Amino acid sequence: MTAQLSSSDEGRVIQANNDIYIISLRDGTCFCRQYQANSILCGHAITCIFIVTAYRAARDKAYKLRSA
Ligand SMILES: [Zn+2]
Repeated sequence: MTAQLSSSDEGRVIQANNDIYIISLRDGTCFCRQYQANSILCGHAITCIFIVTAYRAARDKAYKLRSA
């Protein structure tokens, strides 16, 4: 599974079979519909949250370095 961020709260997850799922953490939606239908995080959303968290941590770190 490959994941890419398109913004700080949207991403896409590409599975091994080339299925692409677009996730919006802001809207709470995923193309698999499990996320918005059940309000249960699907694997795609969890993957997306993981990379968003890593992205924000890296961004905050870079910001601190710049402003130090
Ligand atoms: Zn999903």
